[in-house]
Amino acid sequence: MARINEHYAKLPASYLFPEIGRRVRAYQAAHSDANVIRLGIGDVTEPLAPAIVEAMHAAVEEMGKRETFRGYGPEQGYDFLVEAIRQHDYAARGVDIAADEIFVSDGSKCDSGNVQEIFASAARIAITDPVYPVYVDSNVMAGRTGAAGSDGRYSGLVYLVGNEANGFQPDPPAETVDIVYLCSPNNPTGTVATRAQLERWVAWAREKEAVILFDAAYEGYISDPALPRSIYEIPGAKECALELRSFSKRAGFTGVRCAFMVVPKAVTGVDPSGKRVSLNALWARRHTTKFNGASYIVQRGAAAAYSTAGLAQTNAQIAFYMENARLLREGLTAAGFTIYGGVHAPYLWIRTTGGATSWQFFDQLLEKAQVVGTPGAGFGPAGEGYFRLSAFNSRANIEEAIARIRKAFG
Ligand SMILES: *Cc1c(COP(=O)(O)O)cnc(C)c1O
Repeated sequence: MARINEHYAKLPASYLFPEIGRRVRAYQAAHSDANVIRLGIGDVTEPLAPAIVEAMHAAVEEMGKRETFRGYGPEQGYDFLVEAIRQHDYAARGVDIAADEIFVSDGSKCDSGNVQEIFASAARIAITDPVYPVYVDSNVMAGRTGAAGSDGRYSGLVYLVGNEANGFQPDPPAETVDIVYLCSPNNPTGTVATRAQLERWVAWAREKEAVILFDAAYEGYISDPALPRSIYEIPGAKECALELRSFSKRAGFTGVRCAFMVVPKAVTGVDPSGKRVSLNALWARRHTTKFNGASYIVQRGAAAAYSTAGLAQTNAQIAFYMENARLLREGLTAAGFTIYGGVHAPYLWIRTTGGATSWQFFDQLLEKAQVVGTPGAGFGPAGEGYFRLSAFNSRANIEEAIARIRKAFG
């Protein structure tokens, strides 16, 4: 008999998005004329930029001709894309990353879920709370936690609570951990780590010999040039941090699929004998064994996001979403809401009113304004009492949602 991975039994049945869907369907069944506006999902809405479409068309043509057809490519990614990443994302900001420290993949969700594989099963993990659920669930699946308690927390995980007092940017833990997951700009809170905060994290990681897994999926949404876009802008980070980047939110690739992870050679862990091992060598082994490269067509599209036209077009898309975020922030602040985020990230983190739980607020927003968001409790126990709204939508829907919320709650 095939024995299963019993750790999966610790995961609660995937609840958040199915439950949102169930409540919205029930509402629509009872109000067939309701025009429900969905500000709940973390997915882009603008079509691919023309420069990217053009590059992908050209790549399809190449694949259709004997002379230019390509089969398997390099698992780590084609040189043309790796070079564009090195130049635009790193060298241009004074950071030197070697080509063999960049691993192109088909998504940051997979990278963040897979990277835990190169660490010991006994490794102690810290996450922020609220958090992008992949970091937690992938470690539960790997057996690094005990069961979830009645407070929704897994034993064995270290939770770093983000709250209003710390601006949803918790401090490094006092206890010893091996690995911490950080996400900035943050999903779900929409807040961003300052240079000083990242310096604290890097100093902590170097002192404790911990590894930071830095998810920078939303770096393209940072508008203040003084804020670091990469953790490697902090001196010393190349000795303690891996960085995850994605074209999903930067260039509208959620349905196209392309991302990369930077694993500097100087970041090390220890084997059971205490010997230092480069994480780069381990990840290279893992990546080339279990992954056969992102598609050539997709990588051509990703490289086009760095061309002059591609940068202008994708920056305009980001500016469009961030104008949505600004309108939401101002409109809802005027309606009396307390709001975090939404300045360097496409998410607003809203305090529920009248002491409502995040699910109660979900129902109120749906019933009074026909607007759907995401209950904060779905991102961890510390998300209770908060609510995430996304700026990924059409301008007309954003304006209509603001008008309805102001009328219902203002
Ligand atoms: C959207 C998102 C990603 C990107 O995931 P892909 O698999 O590359 O689409 C990564 N991390 C966070 C926190 C995200 O919200």
